[in-house]
Amino acid sequence: MTADLLIRNARPLGGPATDLLIRAGRIVERAPGLSAPGVPVEDAAGKLALPGFVEAHTHLDKTLLGMGWHPHGAGPRIIDKIDHERALKGPLDIDRVAFPQSGLLRRPGTLELMDRALAMGVEVVGGLDPCAIDRDPKAHLDAVFALSQKHGRPIDIHLHEPGEMGAFSLELIFERIRALGLHGQVTVSHAFCLGAPDRDLVDPLIAQLAELDVAIMTTGPAARPAPPVARLLAAGIRVCSGSDGIRDTWSPYGNGDMLERAMFVGLRNNFRRDEDVALAFHTCTRGGADVMRIDGYGLEPGCAADLLIVPGETVTDAVVSRPMDRVVVKRGAVVARGGTCTRLVA
Ligand SMILES: [Zn+2]
Repeated sequence: MTADLLIRNARPLGGPATDLLIRAGRIVERAPGLSAPGVPVEDAAGKLALPGFVEAHTHLDKTLLGMGWHPHGAGPRIIDKIDHERALKGPLDIDRVAFPQSGLLRRPGTLELMDRALAMGVEVVGGLDPCAIDRDPKAHLDAVFALSQKHGRPIDIHLHEPGEMGAFSLELIFERIRALGLHGQVTVSHAFCLGAPDRDLVDPLIAQLAELDVAIMTTGPAARPAPPVARLLAAGIRVCSGSDGIRDTWSPYGNGDMLERAMFVGLRNNFRRDEDVALAFHTCTRGGADVMRIDGYGLEPGCAADLLIVPGETVTDAVVSRPMDRVVVKRGAVVARGGTCTRLVA
């Protein structure tokens, strides 16, 4: 479903106030003083217009959001969380998954399930900690890349492995990208190893990420080493962000708010200057669109009319204030006000 809408007096990304005319779900004009008889008007009253947030990494299959409070009982290791999650979702059958959440090789049949899911149209092949979980990194990655080759799908590898171990897995990933010509087709999520303090370890990895156009997803984790967002972007690497788990069996935290996520990315990267906080905001907006290859993204004429109207003087003000008084526009239709859904878009 698409809609027409005239947004008056909005400030795109904190710039001068202007009007945005939307027809059939797409921004067609952006200029002050527009008139469009018969088109519904949304008066932004000088608030910010922000492009729609891009949630580039989340696990909705295990969220507990909206259910009664669930006491968190998983242990500290990744494998503890996997086992805890499996115990809780035991009664469920989930067929359409292309991410080996519980490991690929250590769970016989997972590879075949992923193959079937991809054949049914799942868009991306997932991988998970080739050394730490499957303990056979070459076999794990060969299987993941073979699925990508077979189905012609990009890859997203969730790499929690720290330091030297993560660097070793990354090198194996690079080898396969080079051999198969999969430049621009691979995202590495979390990539805690890039947060290691040893520049002699990390800098050559960043150079290869740039050379092979490998994208990085970071949640801005509070308690783990985090990829250095500013250095990655400066190297020309596509960087996106996501909530990861939202109040689920792995963690009691999360609310899915990507404006709040931008703040976490900023805090984790020690961003304080406005131009640096803008980098954190970028990972939750255009950076996600760049990684997920979303066409027609932004606030310019020709772009899809997916945007927010948010109080604030600047983008940085919005990131640190995280106001809930937001108007959310999807394909030209106002779908939420003040955190309440007003309309469903099919
Ligand atoms: Zn994840």
